[in-house]
Formats: sequence, C-alpha cells, structure tokens
Amino acid sequence: MYELNDKIRNLKPYDPISGEYQIRLDANESFLPIPEDLRAEILQRIDEAAWNRYPDPTAAGVCRAFGAYYGVLEECIAAGNGSDELIMILLSSFLKRGEKLLTISPDFSMYRFYGSLAEAENVSLTKPDTLRIDPDDVIRTIRETGARLVIFSNPCNPTGQGLTRDEVRKIITSVDALVVLDEAYMDFWNESMIREAGQYDNLIILRTCSKAFGMAAIRLGFAVANKRLADVIRAVKSPYNVNTFTQLTGEIVLSHQDLLREGTKKIVESAAALAKEIAAISQEFPGSFTQFPTCTNFVFLRSERAEKIFKKLLDRKIAVRFFRLGEVGDFLRITAGNPDENAALCAALREILKEG
Ligand SMILES: *Cc1c(COP(=O)(O)O)cnc(C)c1O
Repeated sequence: MYELNDKIRNLKPYDPISGEYQIRLDANESFLPIPEDLRAEILQRIDEAAWNRYPDPTAAGVCRAFGAYYGVLEECIAAGNGSDELIMILLSSFLKRGEKLLTISPDFSMYRFYGSLAEAENVSLTKPDTLRIDPDDVIRTIRETGARLVIFSNPCNPTGQGLTRDEVRKIITSVDALVVLDEAYMDFWNESMIREAGQYDNLIILRTCSKAFGMAAIRLGFAVANKRLADVIRAVKSPYNVNTFTQLTGEIVLSHQDLLREGTKKIVESAAALAKEIAAISQEFPGSFTQFPTCTNFVFLRSERAEKIFKKLLDRKIAVRFFRLGEVGDFLRITAGNPDENAALCAALREILKEG
C-alpha cells in the first residue's frame, strides 16, 4: 500500500465558488471587458505565433513592456505563471526545510500553504482588531523568532488596508530576513515600492496582471527585485513557465499604457462608490456590520451575520467571499463590480438586512 506523506495526505484541491452566478464579486477580478480592437490585435498575433516552438524562457518582450509601464529595469524583472507560481517558487527556494516563514494573519492564504509544502516552519503574527499591520510588531517578531522570510500583501487581501512606503521601508531596512511584498492590489493605491526595488538586497515585490489589468485568464505575474535576486528567480523557475500566448497577450496589453491607466481609474472609482454606498447601508442598519477602510478594488466587512448574508446573496445569484477567521470573526469581502452589479449587490444587501 502506497502511503502519502503527511505534507500532502489531507490536502483538498482548491475549491473556487462553483455554480452559476449572475454577479461575480468574489474573486477581485476586473469587471472591464477587453476592447474589441485590442482583442483582435491579440488574436492576430497568436495566430501568427510559432506554435511548434517552446516559449522564450526569459519572457523578454513582456518583461520589457512591464518594465516600461512601471519604470523598472528589465534585469530586475522575472515573469511567472501568475504571481501564485512565483509565491511557490520563492517559498520553496529561498527557504530551507525547517526555516521560519513569517506570515501576518489575516492575509492571502496561499502563503502558508506553499510554505508548508516547502516544509518551512510557519510563524504567524496576528493583526490587531483594526486589522492594520504594525511595522514594529513585524520587526520584533522577525528578530525574536529568527524568521528568514516574511511575506505579506500590501495592500492586503482580504483586509483592504495597506502600509505606506515609509512603513514598508522601515521593515526592510530593520531586518536581515527576505521581505516578499505582494503588491497584487497596488495599482489601486500609490504606495508602491516597485521603483526602488533594485536598491535593497532583501526585497522581492510581486505584481500580477489578474486584478487591475483584467487578465486573470492568461496567468501572468512578475517578481521585481535587485539583479542578484532576480537572477536567482530566473534560475530556479522552470524554463518555460510562461507560455507563448500569455507572453504575447501580456506584451500587447501592457503596451497600451493609457488603457491600463484608464481602466484602473474606473475600477478605483467603482470601489469608492461601492464603499460609500455600503457605508450608507451601515447607517441604515446600525450594528449589522462594520466596514474597514479600503485602498483596493474590494470592501471588507465584519459581521456576526456574515455567513447568513453570504448564503442569502448566493440565493439571489450574487457571489461574494465569506471568511471565518477563527478568533478574529466572520467577514465578507466584496469585489467592486460595474455600476449595475454594485447597485444589484446593494439592493440585495438592503433586502437581506431588512429581513433581519
Ligand atoms: C489575486 C492575488 C494573487 C494572485 O495573482 P495571480 O497572478 O492571479 O496568481 C496574489 N496575491 C494576492 C494577495 C492576490 O489577491
């Protein structure tokens, strides 16, 4: 009888929300459709691609377009099959078995998951009731535990809150550990460290095309760091991790800088409008939930009734994300959709709260 080892024995496949929902506000995707002419340009280039050849292992074209958009040197950039793949690569290569990984909860759940696959020892720092990270707590915990790597999302998924550049700089310069800063939502805010990533020997920034750029389908993410670290990432990744069609699509979309900026702006406006309307609902139904400030494309609510609201929204074919975070409480994370989707969500929320 073949025995599975204890790392993998009880794992379950990732289970995104299943079923048909008219309104999907559960995965922080962009609500913007890709313009027709851009779509045609991409399909044309894919049609002309060398389908029988392996992709460019350096993903040079798409890294160049990414670097041009953010003002980052190409030598500082490595591409991944989504930033998810890069998280796995980083945690399994920059940590040795048994070394300590610091995560700060609540945060993106994949960090702990890939850490445990890498057989790192997880050290967890719990955020205070405000769900804001205190940089001094992070620094102290790294020093006390000897953690070799700290990873956190900034702004944070799921809390929607972020650290300023000064706060992040303080962490980076106060510890010897590697700091992996997941800026998946930083396009919606303006405290990015990406322009200065090359200046530190212990910082790796992750970015993704899945959120602000509306390209979750193509699986494309980037790591940005000084050349020494970027070279390591390029050396440890599998050679053909980003396929030709993704490289082509990413290169074309990232070259349309105005479109990206306009799209991002529309999403930020939608998130602000949604946050405002939800604040109004909170006033109409005092005590039903508390709302956290957000600098992302989603809102985060704490409510004792979160699970019930979540299920009643599903009954109305609206999907949001429900979180039960142990001691911390029950929460809903709601992605900003287009104006019609936001209006439908808010109408449903009012109905559900009225029912009590
Ligand atoms: C969505 C998300 C990612 C995943 O990005 P992909 O590039 O789609 O793999 C990474 N980190 C955080 C915090 C996210 O919310």
